[in-house]
Amino acid sequence: MRAAVLESYGEPLSIEEVDPPTPDPHGVVVDVEACGLCRSDWHAWQGHGEWADDQVPIGQILGHEPAGRVARVGERVDELAVGDRVAVPFNLGDGTCYYCRNGHGNVCEDGYALGFESSVPGAFAEQIHVPHADFNAVTLPDGVSTEAVAALGCRYVTAFHALAHRADIDAGDWVAVHGCGGLGLAAIQIAAALGARVLAVDIRTAPLELASKLGAEVTIDASELENGTGEKEGVPAAIKARTDGGAHVSVDALGRAETCRNSVDCLRIRGTHVQVGLTTDAERGEVALPIDELARWDVTVVGSRGMPPSRYDELLRLIDAGTLEPEQLVTNRVALENVSDRLAAMSEYETRGIEVVTEF
Ligand SMILES: [Zn+2]
Ligand SMILES: [Zn+2]
Repeated sequence: MRAAVLESYGEPLSIEEVDPPTPDPHGVVVDVEACGLCRSDWHAWQGHGEWADDQVPIGQILGHEPAGRVARVGERVDELAVGDRVAVPFNLGDGTCYYCRNGHGNVCEDGYALGFESSVPGAFAEQIHVPHADFNAVTLPDGVSTEAVAALGCRYVTAFHALAHRADIDAGDWVAVHGCGGLGLAAIQIAAALGARVLAVDIRTAPLELASKLGAEVTIDASELENGTGEKEGVPAAIKARTDGGAHVSVDALGRAETCRNSVDCLRIRGTHVQVGLTTDAERGEVALPIDELARWDVTVVGSRGMPPSRYDELLRLIDAGTLEPEQLVTNRVALENVSDRLAAMSEYETRGIEVVTEF
C-alpha cells in the first residue's frame, strides 16, 4: 500500500509502497477514506517534543485523524464487520486496564497514540491497523460522513471532552477560550452548541472574526489591550468586566505560560480552568500558577486529553442532528502527495480552516 513516511524531520515525507497491515486477533484493518491534517502532525514532522520524551521516531507514518471502512477483521473481534464505517480515535486504549474498563480509554495505562508511535502507524496511508478494535473503533451513524469525522480531527473531540465531561459546563455559563487556532475555534463552536455564552481571546483579527461567526458573543483582541488603545487592563480584567465577575469555565487552547495564566486569572469564584493546549519549548511543560488564590476561591484546575472512545457517540449525535457541521470548515481536500506541502504551509501559518487528505 502507499504511505507517507517520515524519513527526516522537517523534510518532505517519502511516498512509498509499504507492507499493508494484517489484523491482530483483536484488531481490524481499516481502508482510510479521509484523514485530517493537524498542527500535531506538523509538530511531529518538525521533531518537536524531545524534551518531553515525546519525539516521533524516524520511519513513522503520521496521520491521526482518520475515518474509513473496515477491510479485514481479526478472528477475536466481535462487534465489527467488513464494510463497517468507523472513526478511529488517536488515543487508543488496550480495553482491559482499570481506566479503560471504567470509561476512560483516553488515559489508558498502556495506550497508544495513533500516528505518533511505531507500534501504531498512522493514517497518511491507504490502510491502518486498529488494535483492540471492539474497544477503540467507533461505528458511525448513517448521517455522519467519513469526511466529517476527519474534519472533526482531534480538535473537536478534545474540545468536546474538555467542555462536556471535564468542565461539565451548564447552559448560560460564560466560557472563555484563550487562543483561536483549530482547537480554540472548535471549543467555541462546541461551547455555543452546549448552550454556553462564549468569550474568545486572540491577538489576530481574522481568527477573532471567525470566532464570532462560530458563536462567540464577545471577542477580545489581547494585542489591543497590551497597546493600551482604549483599555489599559490586561486580559483577565477585561474578561471579568465583560462577564459580570469572570468566566465560569476558561480554556487554554494554546499552551503558553501567558494564556494559561490568563485563563486561570479570568475565572470567577468557583470557576474551572481546563488545560487542553500543550506547552512549547519555552515552557517545557511548566507554568507558575497562583496556588493560594486557587485555594482561596474554590477554583478547579483540570487537564483534558482527547476523548474516551466510549463517549464518541455523544459528539457524533450533534453532527447527525446538524448541530455541528465540521465539513463546513474544510477548505482543502488533498492527496497523499500533497501532505508535505501542506505541512510546510503550516510553518508559515498559511493554512486556513481544516484540510483533509481524501486521496491515498
Ligand atoms: Zn487501558
Ligand atoms: Zn490532531
